[in-house]
Amino acid sequence: MELELWYLVVVPLVFAAGWFGRGFEARTRASDNAALPRSYFRGLNLLLNDQHDKAIDAFIEVVKLDPETIELHHALGNLFRRRGEFDRAVRIHTHLLNRADLPARERSRALAELGQDYLKGGLLDRAEEAFTRLLEDRDHRFDALRALHRIFQMEREWAKAIDTARLLEREAGENHQTAIAHFYCELAESAASAGRVDEARRAIDDALAADRRSVRALILAGDLAASRGDGEEALRLWQRVEATSRDHVPLIAAKITATLDRLGRRTEALNWLRRALLDSPSIDLLDTACDRTTEWEGPAAAEVLVSDELKRHPSLLGFERLAEARLALNPGDEELLSMSALLKNHARKLARYRCSKCGFRTREYHWNCPGCSNWDSYPPRRIEELDA
Ligand SMILES: [Zn+2]
Repeated sequence: MELELWYLVVVPLVFAAGWFGRGFEARTRASDNAALPRSYFRGLNLLLNDQHDKAIDAFIEVVKLDPETIELHHALGNLFRRRGEFDRAVRIHTHLLNRADLPARERSRALAELGQDYLKGGLLDRAEEAFTRLLEDRDHRFDALRALHRIFQMEREWAKAIDTARLLEREAGENHQTAIAHFYCELAESAASAGRVDEARRAIDDALAADRRSVRALILAGDLAASRGDGEEALRLWQRVEATSRDHVPLIAAKITATLDRLGRRTEALNWLRRALLDSPSIDLLDTACDRTTEWEGPAAAEVLVSDELKRHPSLLGFERLAEARLALNPGDEELLSMSALLKNHARKLARYRCSKCGFRTREYHWNCPGCSNWDSYPPRRIEELDA
């Protein structure tokens, strides 16, 4: 039997032991109580026979007779939730919530647990409703705000997420500056893609006001300047990224070089790439350098660039690029073709990005981890470089 199933059985057993421990006197106070052990053991027996719904009925019977068994219900409800049996957890917590004879404190606790059931079960609107009701409850306010903060992010309700984060900062003394800056960046991105440029600019300003070192906000500000044709301003903003975090230079390399090219400064673009590669070697940077050199100076120059870089920083992903560059020079070379295919196959796994918090791997770079929802948890480096 799996571990959590054992717990399902052990928890009622512990409560039964506690009930017996309360003594004969307590048991004889009300004659109704004589029915208690029978419901307990019926429930236990049903749990053991995997008849969970009938077991819940039996235990609900117990709580009707003895309100002191609330803890048993919470323990069972939480176990069902952990096992992913959300419907059963919801049933138990809803039953507690609807018990008018329970103290208000216990009903609030049941509502908080019910909110968690909905959240874990993916019923976000119901979870939101439960936690919104708890905001007025002093004992549950901070936890409700934290849950809502999470829900609004999942629902991509960025304005609400900002309000909740600010409340948590003000009332609970927490720091959510990084997340708030990203929420504004999300708003800026959707405004920019809908052509609402002024709104996008305001959101970027707000992001930088929340976190003046927000690399994402600076990149977006540069994008916005570039899209209105102000290349010089875009370059100035992206250079601030360079000054703020050298690690993020690979993310702006393609943008900077394309803009310099548009301004007729191709040589400067190539020099910038070579200098950036010397200052902070990176596979993504090498990729951009290889692409631009192939495009502007031809495959022979690209081959020299990659070969030189590999002497300084050998990597499988780099050799894959070298094989590609050589293949462009010798398209008929069968040996080179199979070597390139082999390298590509082996390098694929090493080419992913990896979250520093949960290890989730992705092909694309993410500001927000799809695995653990942390912000800024992806270093802008490929796995091969991270493990080197
Ligand atoms: Zn993660």
